[in-house]
Amino acid sequence: MKNSDLEAVIGLEVHVELNTITKLFCGCLAKFGSLPNSQVCPVCLGLPGCLPVLNQKAVEYALKVALALNCRITEFNKFYRSHYFYPDLPKNYQISQYETYLGEDGFLDIPVNEGINSDVKKVSDRTDKAKRIGIKEMHLEEDVGKLVHISNFSFIDFNRSGIPLLEIVSYPDINSPSEAYQYLVSLKQIIRYLGVSSCNMEKGILRCDANVSIKKKTALTLGTRIELKNMNSFRSVREALDFEIKRQIRILEEGGNLIPETRLWSEEDHRTRSMRTKVEAEHYRCFPDPDLPPFIISSRLKEEIRSLLPELPQRRFQRFIEDLRLSPYDSAVLTQEKELADFFEKCLEKYSDTKNLCNWITTSLLAEINRRNLSLEGLNLEPERFIKLIRLVDDGKLSNLSAKGILGVMLDSKKDPEEIASEKDLIQIRDLGSLQKTVIEVLQENEETASDFLKGKEKALSFLIGQVMKKTKGKADPKMVGQILKERLERR
Ligand SMILES: [Zn+2]
Repeated sequence: MKNSDLEAVIGLEVHVELNTITKLFCGCLAKFGSLPNSQVCPVCLGLPGCLPVLNQKAVEYALKVALALNCRITEFNKFYRSHYFYPDLPKNYQISQYETYLGEDGFLDIPVNEGINSDVKKVSDRTDKAKRIGIKEMHLEEDVGKLVHISNFSFIDFNRSGIPLLEIVSYPDINSPSEAYQYLVSLKQIIRYLGVSSCNMEKGILRCDANVSIKKKTALTLGTRIELKNMNSFRSVREALDFEIKRQIRILEEGGNLIPETRLWSEEDHRTRSMRTKVEAEHYRCFPDPDLPPFIISSRLKEEIRSLLPELPQRRFQRFIEDLRLSPYDSAVLTQEKELADFFEKCLEKYSDTKNLCNWITTSLLAEINRRNLSLEGLNLEPERFIKLIRLVDDGKLSNLSAKGILGVMLDSKKDPEEIASEKDLIQIRDLGSLQKTVIEVLQENEETASDFLKGKEKALSFLIGQVMKKTKGKADPKMVGQILKERLERR
């Protein structure tokens, strides 16, 4: 088999913890990071004789995601017991869905670049081309406890046990590690727009397993399916898939055979290792949970939740390009997070230069936010103050550089930009008389450079402007200084 005849087929299974206040079947808090085993009760500890009660909010949150992913919604839903033994699962079964699922047959459009290698590695690669990835199903289930291994001991924290978990299973429509990465980025973006989960993978709030097989491009059936686990970031999902695809192709090219198995990604040595081989399909002996009545998703609830959906990122991205005439790059940066896009649009109500506003946000503001490690949700900046700062630059009262410094102060305080500027003595000198005086001084002190300019050395002018800026402690308007200098020099 030749490499170019082969293609990878990838399916992703994503688990996302929903950010409801309480757990899926009990009133315990679902908060992350509390003292171990401080958020537990008989229900989520799996003690015998207690009864689970479904959290309506979790159903609504799951429904939001299902609708946003264009799924067909199942009206009559049942919970099943999926049996297996593991220390983090004291009941010896997990409550999940089986056979029919809350949402089925949906899709997610992911951005791709033109060309055969549809590779989007950075936001800046983004175009408005998309590829549709099918969503096979998504359902609600309970999370399990967490094992913590410290030296020779293992501990169990049941705080996580019973937190509502959304499992989202894609069709094997993904054909490259980059597409898998982009699928995860897009999925996370949508779920964050919906406000139902932070999707933080470092904290384990979003988890992802992958299955990958290799087939001949012309073949109708899939190759041997290999499952990948233990990836702790989107980047490791991409790297693990990349490694695994190359490994499988190499074996097939050498005439070897692949066996169905589960492999673990090792972050340290950047390779996958066999964990277990699958002799036969796993049997979880699923049967309907007799303690939980079926739950109905009425068309009324469905329409109510649909009406609450925000404008989704893909649509907003397109609208920013079409209506606001932004480039795909700018639009992608601005619509990455809902809070940022909201902020941009609120500013636009008060300021009409779209492109200038966009530049201020995508460069200066985001740089300050990232440098200070701030979150957009709790951003201490009102559109009014931000616009006022931009106007000070537009009116020539502040240099771009001073404005950037002031922006930092504004993020830390409630102060007005003009107030900060006068406190720091940053208001630009635009008084022609005083600037001309300084220019004359500088020319006298730098006779040689001045004549260099007249001999045609363009660089000499920037040096002279720099000298004026130095004398005015950076408060002169460099454009004005340049003009005055040129006029003076040409008069010689
Ligand atoms: Zn509980």
